[in-house]
Amino acid sequence: MSDQILSCNAPCEPVPFISLVAQHQTIAHEVTAAVGRVLAEQKFILGEEVSSLETEIAKYCDSRSAVGCASGTDALMLALMALGVGPGDEVITSPFTFFATASAICRLGAKPVFADIDPVTFNINPEAVEAAITPNTKVIMPVHLFGLCSDMERLWRIAVRHGAAIVEDACQAIGAEYRGRRAGVLGTIGCFSFFPTKNLGGAGDGGMLTTDDADLCKQLRCLRVHGDTGNYHHLEVGLNSRLDAIQAAILRIKLRHLDQWTDARRRNAQNYRDLFAAYSLSDEIMLPIEPREYKHVYNQFTVRITGGRRDGVLQRMRANHVGSMIYYPIPLHVQPCFEFLGHRIGEFPEAEAASREVLSLPIYPEMPAHHGELVVRQLKAAFSQTRPQTEVRRAAA
Ligand SMILES: *Cc1c(COP(=O)(O)O)cnc(C)c1O
Repeated sequence: MSDQILSCNAPCEPVPFISLVAQHQTIAHEVTAAVGRVLAEQKFILGEEVSSLETEIAKYCDSRSAVGCASGTDALMLALMALGVGPGDEVITSPFTFFATASAICRLGAKPVFADIDPVTFNINPEAVEAAITPNTKVIMPVHLFGLCSDMERLWRIAVRHGAAIVEDACQAIGAEYRGRRAGVLGTIGCFSFFPTKNLGGAGDGGMLTTDDADLCKQLRCLRVHGDTGNYHHLEVGLNSRLDAIQAAILRIKLRHLDQWTDARRRNAQNYRDLFAAYSLSDEIMLPIEPREYKHVYNQFTVRITGGRRDGVLQRMRANHVGSMIYYPIPLHVQPCFEFLGHRIGEFPEAEAASREVLSLPIYPEMPAHHGELVVRQLKAAFSQTRPQTEVRRAAA
């Protein structure tokens, strides 16, 4: 490789990690008109926009029903509430995920039980799930991390054998597929987030649940409005967790573009694969995989940098204005708020190693094509300038 690619002496063009503005510009007219419609009607909570979005999302996921709510976090909480999860119950989930996956369990007084991840997919390892089962296990909650579905068949077998339900945390995985079926219909209840940076993002918070079970659907509709069964009659205590009509109107517009945006994310991923090969980085940096029978939707394109070099690489990338992020720097079992669970460092070695080694690169659909090459070029330079930690230690010894 020439020196040219190993340094960037001229001021480099900044490469943003994500640009929501770029996406908005492509649909601004449609979105503005949709918001105007809701404002003209002054019906802001639930209503027709929300029920239409529910029908459209159900159709998109091939689910019998969908129920809108206020956020992905609430979707997880509502799903567990509908399944009757409470004190004394255990929910098995991944320690390598966004905080809300475990906090939803805790908020209901149930116990999050962590099972370590697979180092290649970053998703929960079914063998570890099986080992974590106890008579109190009520739900298994796999996370389709970064947009790749979990190993659902093996999880289903375990769930059926032990009488547990499955709640999919599909917040990063709308449109992802496993054996031809979409995320959200691979468990008992699917949970989605419309947080602005998700693949289908609103203009604020929002969430959705999917289920084929008519009774659960009915219960979810009730739980999201304080458990009101109609006429201020409350059979159980629910949440105030409704989707706003403005969000639904915007999301309905964006849903029509989702497949095209997913295709763009997948093209960007393929572009990275080609570039990593061209820059001879594929052996040194582990790329995300897309196993056969899975469709990855790349909410994140997350690589793995071993040898203690990740933080050095990140610093150099940032110094050169290349956006990159660490999802997630601290596994949940060592978060201060979960100290009461009594976990130690070393208990979930794969999750801990992932936290030390992952780096997410820009992958947003509107990313200019040449940015992929800027990222890989900078990564190559940063990687060659960062010494492996093991060498440093050996040298010091
Ligand atoms: C975003 C996200 C959530 C929470 O969604 P909010 O809408 O932000 O509440 C939960 N789990 C995962 C894996 C997520 O990525």
